[in-house]
Amino acid sequence: MPRLAVLGHPVAHSRSPAMQNAALAALGMGEEWSYEAIDVAPEEFEARVRAMPAEGFAGANVTVPHKTAAFALADATSEGAARIGAANTLVFAEGQIQAHNTDAGGLIAALRSSPKGVHALVLGAGGAARAAVWALRTEGAIVDIWNRTSARAEAVHLEMSGIELEVQGAVVAEIDQSAYGLIVNTTAVGLHGEDPFAHLPLRRDGFGEQILVDMVYSDGPSTLSQAAAAAGAEVVDGLEVLVQQGALSLRIWTDREPPLDVMRAAARG
Ligand code: NAP
Repeated sequence: MPRLAVLGHPVAHSRSPAMQNAALAALGMGEEWSYEAIDVAPEEFEARVRAMPAEGFAGANVTVPHKTAAFALADATSEGAARIGAANTLVFAEGQIQAHNTDAGGLIAALRSSPKGVHALVLGAGGAARAAVWALRTEGAIVDIWNRTSARAEAVHLEMSGIELEVQGAVVAEIDQSAYGLIVNTTAVGLHGEDPFAHLPLRRDGFGEQILVDMVYSDGPSTLSQAAAAAGAEVVDGLEVLVQQGALSLRIWTDREPPLDVMRAAARG
């Protein structure tokens, strides 16, 4: 009876158990497989993960604040996880811990068209930004980075450039909002009701025919999403990115085609 889980701290709010259990049930695997939420403090994380294979776990998702620690303890890592320096998906197989990062692929899958050649702006320089910058540059987008603390933006820019990834885009301080075909908010602004137009270099009336991805999600559309949609922009919300990263994780664990509509309904339910 394979078990799966999401490890976080806190984790009670996570929509992943509802989403993944609905997917397992739709695939006819609900009797065998189960997915639960496990709250684990940072100092207990490594020991908790190492105990999981013996407890019947086939894998796990990892969320805030454990993604860097999950990458660090793995025996083997995917290329994306290695470049991003963080993992959100673990696989326990043949006595090994494998680490993957499906946040990156989840963002790309959530976009309805390829970002190749698109001039993109990533707002933020935390873990979600690293995955977004790596994913978009790998797909051929030109990615500028803005962050409140510009030194962190510089660090992400430099780490996500280099031999395999030619320097594509720059760190920016002043924004010409209309110049971007794609804007991705990976900052935490909006999570606790902050006004995005007070904290981010965006104007409410500055959106046009472009794509906005707001990684932050809660119940209902965010202020940023509403303003962008009202101006005719195409909006991808954080729940769609969550669904897509979860679908990629499910495929890694089960080798089955994820039922996206079932997962969307459960994540939004
Ligand atoms: P993180 O590593 O803590 O980074 C937080 C980022 O937000 C930093 O760039 C920080 O800027 C910026 N920030 C925080 N408060 C700000 C403010 N008042 N004004 C301007 N910038 C501010 O967090 P993370 O793991 O990257 O996650 C960021 C957000 O993405 C969270 O809301 C998370 O829930 C969401 N997320 C969603 C998904 C999904 O699947 N939808 C996946 C991953 C993350 P400084 O560097 O200046 O502090």
